[in-house]
Formats: sequence, C-alpha cells, structure tokens
Amino acid sequence: MESFKLHKVLPKFLIFFQCFISLLILCFSSIAQESSFPELRTRMVKTQIQSRGITDQKVIDALLKVPRHKFVLPEYLSMAYNDSPLPIDEGQTISQPYVVAFMTEILQLKLTDKVLEIGTGSGYQAAVLAEICDSVFTIEIFESLAKKAQNLFNELGYNNIYSKIGDGYKGWSEHAPYNAIIVTCSPRHIPRPLKEQLAEGGRMIIPVGRNLLQELVLLEKKRGKIKQESVLPVRFVPMIKEDGEKY
Ligand code: SAH
Repeated sequence: MESFKLHKVLPKFLIFFQCFISLLILCFSSIAQESSFPELRTRMVKTQIQSRGITDQKVIDALLKVPRHKFVLPEYLSMAYNDSPLPIDEGQTISQPYVVAFMTEILQLKLTDKVLEIGTGSGYQAAVLAEICDSVFTIEIFESLAKKAQNLFNELGYNNIYSKIGDGYKGWSEHAPYNAIIVTCSPRHIPRPLKEQLAEGGRMIIPVGRNLLQELVLLEKKRGKIKQESVLPVRFVPMIKEDGEKY
C-alpha cells in the first residue's frame, strides 16, 4: 500500500483551498453589490434628479423602480448609478440619468399615452417610459442592441414595450399617431415623418444639431400646427442612416 505523502498532496490542496476562498469572496461581493443597488438608486434620485428640479412623481417613481444596473455593460456595473452617460455596445451610450428624467418629464405623460422612442440603445429610457405609459414603441438601428434590449424587456417583464430594428428617422407609421415622441440620437434637422406621426396635442423632445452643438428641442402640435422651442444644450450620439451616414 502506498504511504500518504503529505508533501505531494499539500500543494494541490492549497491551490484548491485558494480557489474555493476566491470563489466565496466573489459570490459575497456580488451579493453585497446587488443588495446595495436599491440604495444607490434612491441616492441617485435624490442627489441627481430631485435636487435638479424634477418634480413629476411618476418620473421619480419610475427612476426609483427601473434597475439601471441591468442596462449597463458588466464592466461599468459599479458606475451604473453615477451622474454620467456610460458606453454600451456598438460605440453607443446609455444617457445620463438626469437627461432621461428631464426628457421624460417634459413630455407630460399620462397612463393612456402611446409613446414612440427613436434609439432604443440599452433599453433604459424605454423601460422608464413603460413604467409610466400604456404602450411604448421603440426603434433601434443596430440589430445587436435591439435584440439585447428585447431580451432584457422580457426578463424584466416589460410586456408593454414593442421594439423593432430599423431606421427611426422614418418613425413607425403602422402605430401612429403618438401622444409623445422621444428621440435619443441627434439628427441635424427634425425628421418630417416624426412631425407627421405626432398626435394632435402631442409633444416631441429631440436633440438637434451637429456633433458638439446640440439643443434639446420641444415640439407641440396644436390644431395641426407645430410650435417649437429649445430647452437645454445637450450632447447625444448622431442619428445615422442604414449605411452609417449621419442624418
Ligand atoms: N435611449 C437609449 C440611448 C441610446 S443612444 C438608452 O436609454 O440607452 C442612441 C441610440 O440611437 C443608439 O443606440 C443608436 O444606435 C441609435 N440610433 C442612431 N441612429 C438611429 C436611427 N436612425 N434609428 C434608430 N436608432 C438609431
């Protein structure tokens, strides 16, 4: 019978033990991080949203509820509730929480509203809208982003978000008119199809301009006429065509 050779077994055991401890630490730290997200979200809403003048309770409740950390890339998890936009796939970005809140509030949404979003991206803005309104239609030009967002909507139970892959410049005429339209990528002029797909009494918020010089423009349709005003300087990714050219 072979004798028990401690000097042979010990190093293997030590390596195994080390792996086991590392795994335990990893598990506990991710559980700790997960449990701190609601707290981070509450702080985000207080210090970034309410402190800057957002008062619509529906918007505040939506931002308190939507798990923003699910919409960011794993490498940015610890920054999910920071006061900034973050990179997502395809060189795009998830907007800063305050900008999401500002654009949502200015639309003055009601539960019965039908909303169109151009630029699904991570899906975060669509989820915020879906907490407030009956139905949200969202269009994304990159297939990979649209598919990822759709999977997340399913996972989180957002069955009032309808998404499609395509060029949002043209809007989504089959479901028009919309009570509100929100555009989260920037063209150099306001797309005519979007103006046409806005319902009577409807509102649209859209960043318009060149790379570094953009203004959020608010449009309102009253008795068939469109009134517009600039409300905030911003910086969004450009609205692009199917061939990658900028609008
Ligand atoms: N609302 C998003 C922000 C995404 S950034 C969020 O909450 O994460 C803007 C998005 O617009 C990008 O994903 C970009 O791919 C998309 N986009 C750009 N041009 C587009 C177009 N013509 N039609 C639809 N989506 C477009």
